[in-house]
Amino acid sequence: MTARIESLATRLIRVPLQRPWGPGVTSISIVETVVRDTDGAQGFGFSWTPSIGAEAAQALLDNDIARFAVGRDTDPEALWPELWAHLHEAGSGGLTTIALAGLDLALWDLAGRRAGRSLTALLRDAPGDDEPPIDPEVYGSGVNLHYPLAELVAQAERWVAAGFGAVKMKVGSPELADDIARVRAVREVIGPDRRLMIDANQRWDLERAVRALDALAEFDLRWIEEPLRADDLPAHEALRARTAVPIALGENVHTRYRVEEFLRAGVVDVLQPNAVRVGGVTPFRQIAALARTHGVEVAPHLLLELSGQLAAAFPRTASRPLVEAVEDAGFEHLGILAEPSPVVVDGDRMHVTDHPGLGLRFTAEPATTSASIPRTDTL
Ligand code: MG
Repeated sequence: MTARIESLATRLIRVPLQRPWGPGVTSISIVETVVRDTDGAQGFGFSWTPSIGAEAAQALLDNDIARFAVGRDTDPEALWPELWAHLHEAGSGGLTTIALAGLDLALWDLAGRRAGRSLTALLRDAPGDDEPPIDPEVYGSGVNLHYPLAELVAQAERWVAAGFGAVKMKVGSPELADDIARVRAVREVIGPDRRLMIDANQRWDLERAVRALDALAEFDLRWIEEPLRADDLPAHEALRARTAVPIALGENVHTRYRVEEFLRAGVVDVLQPNAVRVGGVTPFRQIAALARTHGVEVAPHLLLELSGQLAAAFPRTASRPLVEAVEDAGFEHLGILAEPSPVVVDGDRMHVTDHPGLGLRFTAEPATTSASIPRTDTL
């Protein structure tokens, strides 16, 4: 008889950011999850959210998700659709999928530990696929709209010194002239050959986006990320007809069904699913496959230590997948990993280490039962 889920425990970890992402974002939250199966084996996963909903995600895990999951098979791909349907009245995506990821990741970790194989190796386990894993390209990124110009320039200089061939900065200043000055300054620092991406974090409406991209296109943009409110598909269709700048989005599109609507509409050039926000490895994998059928590049959003492992399992393509390194914000840099990082970054290259499962354990002792969850405010 196959092992079943015996318990699910969680622990909320609030991690101060050494380089705040804005006046209101000075920490990120991780809900560590620990699954134990009926053979006594454990799997470790996590849920994550920068600023909103950590306690709510933890509560979903401790209550609705744990009650549904305990006693069921540990196969993440079998459990995911049933659990998603069970949670659906609370919303098809967002908090429900952020919470669901905590269990899905722990089950993938459990499967990897049982098999003695890394997540990347598990995901690449296709017949005839004996090529070595891909080494994704790491790009430099910063949450820097609030940086004074001199600080932004200094960050761009650090990216160049670090060896990145592609970098990403924020746009969406109240005055377009400021965005123009900032993008020009970064382009001057990085020179004509490095790729430059800009990210508006949904700050524009259609007319502002058109005006801004008309002005910023001269700086040779690899992509504009989230130019518009992420829910507004018609506005993206209108924008697509009015700019030649490639459009990247996906970090706030939470289900494969919604992703498919954007792909079908032909408004996405680079899809950026966030592996936690979509609900874990199981749906991420489906979404990445969907993008491939539409011929759309996939560049996983944030979470370098997880995204790097997922991207390393992509099928080989002409170009290496891009993964994002936000300055000083990786789990390893934040000092919260209890073991060596499962991905090693060297300049703009990264490789996955040989480790079982996800290889992501967090510092300090995890809770052993959901009834005794230490709710730490700081580490
Ligand atoms: Mg973004």
